[in-house]
Amino acid sequence: MFHTYLIKYGEIGVKGKNRYVFEDALSGRILERLENVSGEFSVSKEQGRIYVHCAGSFIHEEVVEALQNVFGIVGICPVMVCDEDDPDSIGKAVVEFLAQSYETHDQSFKIIARRARKSYPMPSMELNAIVGGAVLDAYPEMSVDVHEPQIPVHVEIRDQIYIYSKIIPGPGGMPVGTNGRAMLLLSGGIDSPVAGYMIAKRGVRIDAVYFHAPPYTSERAKQKVIDLAKRVSDFAGKMRVHVVNFTDVQLRIYERCPHDELTIIMRRYMMKIAEHFAARDGALALITGESLGQVASQTIQSLAVTNAACTMPVFRPLIGFDKQDIVDISLKIGTYETSILPYEDCCTIFVAKHPVTKPLLHIIERSEKKLGEDFDELVKTAIETAETVEV
Ligand code: ATP
Ligand code: MG
Repeated sequence: MFHTYLIKYGEIGVKGKNRYVFEDALSGRILERLENVSGEFSVSKEQGRIYVHCAGSFIHEEVVEALQNVFGIVGICPVMVCDEDDPDSIGKAVVEFLAQSYETHDQSFKIIARRARKSYPMPSMELNAIVGGAVLDAYPEMSVDVHEPQIPVHVEIRDQIYIYSKIIPGPGGMPVGTNGRAMLLLSGGIDSPVAGYMIAKRGVRIDAVYFHAPPYTSERAKQKVIDLAKRVSDFAGKMRVHVVNFTDVQLRIYERCPHDELTIIMRRYMMKIAEHFAARDGALALITGESLGQVASQTIQSLAVTNAACTMPVFRPLIGFDKQDIVDISLKIGTYETSILPYEDCCTIFVAKHPVTKPLLHIIERSEKKLGEDFDELVKTAIETAETVEV
């Protein structure tokens, strides 16, 4: 068992000063993610490399699973660290590394030495030959293949010698926190948790707003959304969820506006309220799980009218996705099982049989005038009475 992991990360676009920001954020996210994993962990940075060092009672699989949730990581390599750096000791270490890493020893291999420590007295090619010889002596069934080896054995000469061959894939993306903040409109459905995941993957720190309508929606429906937020936060890091009581706002819309416009008007107020929380939390964009044409409120006309309710950019990462593609991602990230629990949503309660599919902004705005002079007070109260849950 190895105690160190070399973390590979995408280097495109992370040059100069950005590189430090990226590496610092990635180290921070790794440590945060490992907080709840048993064992003791530290992170070190060295010449464009990040290493995770493990001590105590850690379990390889748990560490890898945690690291696979950290955006920005492209690959996770279990590393053997060797203190002695003469070629014979390195050869012995590589033989031991192969013994521990592979059950059989009949594959082809290649030694790929790299001298990050330039003062190392022997050229890489010569070291490759010596170490390769040691491997062939120990495992006569193995063969050298310099073009397409089954086992490429990397030997990196740094302050110590680092040996690795396997690259376990990471999630890719960018470390959360390197790309600002956004506010996710999180419902209990399949789409919005996936939308949040996708934007967090681009390095955006997210918070969420959830609208519920007690007593029409239950405590269980709310708990379901909190559970979804927790799952998203496994990837996205700590999140604040603002739970907004939307009942009075919805009832007023229901009483005063044409019923075929309910959903669209309600969605416009969701955007406005979400924008308020976004501005307060320093978020610069909203995120929704909308997908073009999926339901009446997601036709191009409806989206245009919804969009006109706020001024912040609205990210809709699922806009061009088919439902099945979204389901596939939700299965992959582990939100699907929770999303399909059959609890009511505030949107489905006051929904019309035949909602407008081609709303016009000026008509919707005219309907909204009927909401009454004190309607802004209802909106304000909804904002002020929101409960914030940290997950
Ligand atoms: P989802 O599966 O994400 O609920 P949906 O297909 O059910 O999406 P809608 O109900 O029209 O579609 O909602 C579109 C988007 O509006 C959602 O993806 C979400 O971002 C936001 N939204 C809907 N209902 C709520 C809610 N109760 N609280 C917060 N945001 C919501
Ligand atoms: Mg929904």
